[in-house]
Amino acid sequence: MKIYNTLTRKKEEFVPIEEGKVSMYVCGPTVYNLIHIGNARPMIVFDTVRRYFEYKGYKVKYVSNFTDVDDKIIKRSIEENIPSAEVAEKYIAECVKDMQGMNVREATVHPRATREIGGMIDMIGILIDKGHAYNVGGTVYFRTRSFRPYGKLSHKNIDDLESGHRDEDHQVKVTGEEGKEDPLDFVLWKPRKEGEPAWDSPWSAGRPGWHIECSVMSRKYLGETIDIHAGGEDLIFPHHENEIAQSEAASGKEFAHYWMHNAFLNIDGVKMSKSLGNFKTVRDISEMYDLQVLRFFMLSAHYRSPLNFSKELMDSAKAGLERILTAIDRLRSLNCWKDIDPADEVYAREQLLQLSQKFEASMDDDFNTADAISAVFEIVKAANINVTEDSSASLRNEYLTAMEKFCEVLGIVTEKKEEILDDEIAALIEERQAARKAKDFARADEIRNLLQSKGILLKDTREGVKWSRA
Ligand code: AMP
Ligand code: ZN
Repeated sequence: MKIYNTLTRKKEEFVPIEEGKVSMYVCGPTVYNLIHIGNARPMIVFDTVRRYFEYKGYKVKYVSNFTDVDDKIIKRSIEENIPSAEVAEKYIAECVKDMQGMNVREATVHPRATREIGGMIDMIGILIDKGHAYNVGGTVYFRTRSFRPYGKLSHKNIDDLESGHRDEDHQVKVTGEEGKEDPLDFVLWKPRKEGEPAWDSPWSAGRPGWHIECSVMSRKYLGETIDIHAGGEDLIFPHHENEIAQSEAASGKEFAHYWMHNAFLNIDGVKMSKSLGNFKTVRDISEMYDLQVLRFFMLSAHYRSPLNFSKELMDSAKAGLERILTAIDRLRSLNCWKDIDPADEVYAREQLLQLSQKFEASMDDDFNTADAISAVFEIVKAANINVTEDSSASLRNEYLTAMEKFCEVLGIVTEKKEEILDDEIAALIEERQAARKAKDFARADEIRNLLQSKGILLKDTREGVKWSRA
């Protein structure tokens, strides 16, 4: 298997630290809002990477954090006048719902930054002891120049960074950080400001910087050196560069062997981000499509290619997905009972074998899901031609099994959703309206989710609730 490694800028053969095992850490979302479809891309992509490793027989330890202390969460808590822990709790729960809708499997561990503060204080202490960090009046900074390989991931030269620090993109000297020895130094611990959550530490009552969180959570759950560290490409610099500096300065060991980064999802050709405000949430999409369609759409491009979100592409993903699911349904319902001479089916089997190899070769080539999906479409076509009621049951089963296992790798659920009758839907919608009136929002949400799990999409309009089948 080959993986493109941002560190070396090459596709490299994957060699695990421990045979048959993979340890991977994927930077998760900051939970101050519903997740947007850009956030969904790394979730879907790296969940698929995990599934493919498992398909190949690896045992995968998959860790993905929730950043639950951060400026944006604090801002939200002030706006909503609720504690920041409550903001985080609420949006973690919403994120988990969206992940379920996209069939993103739960991580082996989903650590939360606020529960790991002790580990962060430990690591910062080690960095200070080793001369890699220093305290100025309660703020602790990482001494960037003390880590010689700084810049190795983002391929930036430290002197260029220094001279470019006036450049807006790489603004490193920020008001309030005047005590820094060097503009390149970054914060490991910052003292509390009025109204902010804080934890006691040897330096000040305060909170950790963002980068130290991931270094600590990765070390705690996966060890000092891991196989794969991943996230969106915007994280390469400074987040991942800083994680490397902290972790490697503290342990003296290589932090991660392979660094994987997904390209961005744009919307109608424009960069999408929470800060630009032009984002669509996964929840918005769930009102128009089954979230499986979103998943399938994301996988229709290679993860390192930018992807543009548009209604046309989503509709074409929906049609493609239906083609696959219909073919699987047809195979499942075929009644193949005849005795067939195996010699008559040699070609059909050979074709399946070749296409299965194409699926694997595509995935082995840096998880090229776009080509893997085209192999699945070719299998669908071959199945529609080669497998009929006049085929042997074993041929039917071979085609069916191949399609099922490839869908499992892609995270596509092939079981038909249980049919729900129009009357039942109407009754549930009525119950949901009553629950909302009674301010029982938990029950109202539960009903929406129940309907969604059966492929029923609800839309609240001025004329009342409208529903449709996904
Ligand atoms: P954040 O909550 O901003 O820290 O982002 C969580 C994850 O989503 C990170 O891995 C980001 O790199 C990724 N991400 C954010 N926006 C996009 C986007 N438009 N396209 C792809 N990935 C994104
Ligand atoms: Zn991270």
